[in-house]
Amino acid sequence: MAAADEIRAPQALQVKLRKLGLIRGDDLVLHLPLRYEDETRVTPIARAPAGVPVQVEASVLDVSVQFRPRRQLVARVADASGELVLRFLNFYGSQTRQLEAARDGAQSSGRRLRLFGEIRPGFLGAEMVHPRYRVVAADEPLPTSLTPVYPTTAGISQAALRKLILPALAGADLSELLDSPWCQRQGLPTFAEAVHLLHAPPPGVPEGALQLRSHPAWRRIKFDEVLTQQLSLRRAYRARRLKGAPLLKGSGKLARRLLASLPFSLTDAQRRVHDEIAGELSQHYPMQRLLQGDVGSGKTIVAALAACQAIEAGYQTAFMAPTEILAEQHYLKLHAWLDPLGIEVVWLTGRQKRALRQAMQGRAAGAAQLIVGTHALIQDSVDFARLGLVIIDEQHRFGVAQRLELRKKGEKNSMPPHQLMMSATPIPRTLAMSYYADLDVSVLDELPPGRQPIKTKLVTDSRRDEVIARVRGVVGVGRQAYWVCPLIEESEKLQLQTALDTHAALTEELDDLRVGLVHGRLKSDEKVATMAAFAAGKIDVLVATTVIEVGVDVPNASLMVIEHAERFGLSQLHQLRGRVGRGAHESACVLLYQQPLSETARARLKIIFENDDGFEIARHDLHLRGPGEFVGSRQSGVPLLRYADLEVDTDLVELAREMAERLLRDAPDLAQRHLQRWLGSREELLKA
Ligand code: ADP
Ligand code: MG
Repeated sequence: MAAADEIRAPQALQVKLRKLGLIRGDDLVLHLPLRYEDETRVTPIARAPAGVPVQVEASVLDVSVQFRPRRQLVARVADASGELVLRFLNFYGSQTRQLEAARDGAQSSGRRLRLFGEIRPGFLGAEMVHPRYRVVAADEPLPTSLTPVYPTTAGISQAALRKLILPALAGADLSELLDSPWCQRQGLPTFAEAVHLLHAPPPGVPEGALQLRSHPAWRRIKFDEVLTQQLSLRRAYRARRLKGAPLLKGSGKLARRLLASLPFSLTDAQRRVHDEIAGELSQHYPMQRLLQGDVGSGKTIVAALAACQAIEAGYQTAFMAPTEILAEQHYLKLHAWLDPLGIEVVWLTGRQKRALRQAMQGRAAGAAQLIVGTHALIQDSVDFARLGLVIIDEQHRFGVAQRLELRKKGEKNSMPPHQLMMSATPIPRTLAMSYYADLDVSVLDELPPGRQPIKTKLVTDSRRDEVIARVRGVVGVGRQAYWVCPLIEESEKLQLQTALDTHAALTEELDDLRVGLVHGRLKSDEKVATMAAFAAGKIDVLVATTVIEVGVDVPNASLMVIEHAERFGLSQLHQLRGRVGRGAHESACVLLYQQPLSETARARLKIIFENDDGFEIARHDLHLRGPGEFVGSRQSGVPLLRYADLEVDTDLVELAREMAERLLRDAPDLAQRHLQRWLGSREELLKA
């Protein structure tokens, strides 16, 4: 069988294999064991430790089908050291006959059972429930190597997988694609050595290193996997650089006028990032840049400056935010900044779409220069006359589908627009290096001056009264407060009800204050009106669901109360907390929590209490949750790294990055073969 070919198996089996992502011979080669079982040793029954998988060898004493408490097959077996009861709750008649035959042959031909499982104390003494077993002759030799246990799915037995994998291994092209001396220097075996060892570990391979995946063979596989990701993304990166893009060169006059009109001057970090972006926008290829900056670091103005550059060059800019509230905020802010410069800023909500679409298409280039909206902006019917730059705020909140759509729009275009993606969820370096390897990254690592650090307080909800008093105090000195309702993930309806209840309760408790309410179910003009009233100081306390999580910017708000903080994730808490401390006022965030706390909730609250740096929080978050959830929507639906663990294998990411560059430059054919081996036709998925 040529390994690149489809696996030859009956149709029904093929369907099941597909569920495991096993289509080609190469896929089988790379379907590596989850763990190993040690069947090289037999443990005497009497000496088997409880609760640990062991192998025992025993003769069958008797077999019976019992009916209480439910139908089950029970066999009594023994070795020289003691007896054991086997219990099968699901069984076939053939199994009964097989055990009976073993019983009958025990005396005459020395037939035994080789059993693998955990021994537990049971009603009738030591027992094994549903052990894996085989009938063997008395002199059948023991395997000399560990037995692999593969990831599988209903209807495919370990034995069936093994039967497919071993021939695939023999038939596959396992030739070395990487520089062997280099691999040797890194302590990495060849690809062939690695897969052979992992599928069939020879005697003497240290079991611990195999199980913990620290064995050099595992490191080689992990390296190859990370290299695959790097190759795929870096290749996309290179391909993009060969494409044409709108040339956004100008005198920079608009940007200078905008800067001159601001009540503040840029931080050094903002200036540096602005230069990076400005430089790239005047190149011939489409920019794809991720701008990372902690909550409040001032990304919006940097984006506005980029928009000025596009507009000055005669192109339109689309500015997308994940929620309507945030889009509206951006619209107001950008309008205030840019309208005085004679730039036409429009806001596109789902409802206004048709009218605006006509306006945008009908008008000559230059009108509707900056279009702000939610992802409605990329939905099918909206076309731009001269789109030069797309800005995506809080990009981690957009789903894979939306990003792919945007990409496709760009690819249809002979001149794809430049893209600036912004995120306040900073991701640790290793993650950025792996998952965002197709992007350029700019970092705002400095907050604007004069910010007061936000005081974070943990308060049990039995002290809610004190918090109410605190709200009153804050409003008394002219500030405003947010009160975030508990997150109820299971039910949007319940979540809404809680928001309504909280609003009713606070309206009563704070009857001398103006209490507003905003939640996801409000009509968009209602949301907008409420936010505008809050921003204008006409609401003292804004009761809100997590719709205000991202981006909202009301500098006069200085108190954030989060109810049931234990239910929120770390980045959500950090984002919510970032809604205050935006002005010059001393600000606080009160995390109300309910006892008893689960261990992870306690860990999260401790982290958010002790840290105010988003990068540091993100690092802890990665540690608590693992990268899968962390990169979230970017990767959903896409197989994550199966073998490499970015927290442990940091060094491999760096090595893989270098190797990817080298292969793409010096040996693109080998790069291609490596990708083919690892991905087959799945490459598209990784680039989403
Ligand atoms: P984020 O990075 O979270 O999107 P914003 O762009 O909303 O942050 O900026 C937060 C606040 O800081 C805004 O009110 C903004 O006008 C203000 N700001 C931005 N840059 C500066 C600066 N260099 N000096 C002072 N204030 C600034
Ligand atoms: Mg923002």
